[in-house]
Amino acid sequence: MKKIVVIGSSNVDTTLHVKDFPKPGETINATDVTTAGGGKGANQAIAAAKSGAETYFINRVGEDSDGGYITHQLKSYGVDTTYVQTTMGAKTGHAYITLNEAGQNDIIIDHGANYELTVEDLKAAGDLINNWDCIIAQFETPIDVTTAAFKMAKKAGKITILNPAPAIDKIPDELLKYTDIIMPNETESAKITGIPIKDKSTLATNAEKLHLLGVKNVIITYGDKGAYISTPDVETLVPAYKVEATDTTGAGDTFIGYFASNLNADMSNFEEAAKIASRASSIAVQRLGAQPSIPTEQEVKQAMEDEE
Ligand code: ATP
Repeated sequence: MKKIVVIGSSNVDTTLHVKDFPKPGETINATDVTTAGGGKGANQAIAAAKSGAETYFINRVGEDSDGGYITHQLKSYGVDTTYVQTTMGAKTGHAYITLNEAGQNDIIIDHGANYELTVEDLKAAGDLINNWDCIIAQFETPIDVTTAAFKMAKKAGKITILNPAPAIDKIPDELLKYTDIIMPNETESAKITGIPIKDKSTLATNAEKLHLLGVKNVIITYGDKGAYISTPDVETLVPAYKVEATDTTGAGDTFIGYFASNLNADMSNFEEAAKIASRASSIAVQRLGAQPSIPTEQEVKQAMEDEE
C-alpha cells in the first residue's frame, strides 16, 4: 500500500535534560534543553513518507511560530500538509519532557490545537479519504473525528488502522466497528484487556480479547521482544532484530508507518509487512530522537539485503 492518510497530533517537543528529577518544590538546573518535532500522528506520517508512501497528514496547528515549524518539518520529510490547518487564537500542541541521566522521562502534554480538529475538516478532505489506500489514527486528537474518518474510509472500501495510544479506558464500539487493524503496544493492550503481558501466552490472550471487541486483525508491539500478529490467517511473534538500542523514542510510530506502507491492499502479506516494519524500527532505535531517527526506504532495503 503506498497511499496513506494519517489523522493525528503534532507537537513541538521541548526536552529538559537533567541529572535527576527535581523533588516537589525543588529548583534545579538543566544540563541541556533541546527542541524537536513530535506527536504520534506527525511521527507516523513521517515514517510512512520516509518508507516511500504518498502521505497526507490531517491535523490542526496553532497560530504561532511552532505551527510553522511543524509544517516545515513535515514537508521536509515529504509529507503533504495540504490538510494541516491553522486554528486562529490557539496554540500548537506541545510536549514538555524531562529526561534524566538514566534515560527515564516525565512528559506533560499541552494538546493545544490538536483537540480543535473537527468532522468538518474531514469533509474538506473527503476526496482524499475516499481515494487513498489506508488511513491511520491514534488517540491524541478527538475520537469522534477518528470515528467519522474510519466510517468514511470503510464506506469507500479502504483499510483503517487504529493505534490506541495513549491508552484509554473504553474504546467506543462504533470506532471498533470500523477498525480493520488495531495496533497497541504492550501497555496499551494490557490497559484495554485488563491482562498484563508477560510472555507469548499472555500476548495470545490479549490478542484474543482484542478480537472479541470486534477487530479481526491485531498487532501488539512488544519492544525488543518483537511484535505479535493475530489475524484470521496468521498467529505469530515476529521477533525484533538484535541491536544496541540508543533511544527507543518513536520505535512504535516507525513500525506503524512502515507496516501500513508495506501491507498489500488485500492484507495478504501481514507477516512480511511486519518484518519490514521491525527492520525499520530496529534502525530507528539505534539513533537519537524520534523523527530524525526514522530510516529511509533505501536504508531499510539495504539493511535487509545485507542480511541475505
Ligand atoms: P515508543 O512509544 O517508544 O515509540 P512503542 O512502545 O509504541 O514505542 P515498542 O513496542 O517499544 O513500541 O516498539 C515497536 C517495535 O520496534 C517493536 O515491535 C520492535 O520491532 C521494535 N523495537 C523496539 N525496541 C527495540 C529494540 N530495543 N531493539 C530492536 N527493535 C526494537
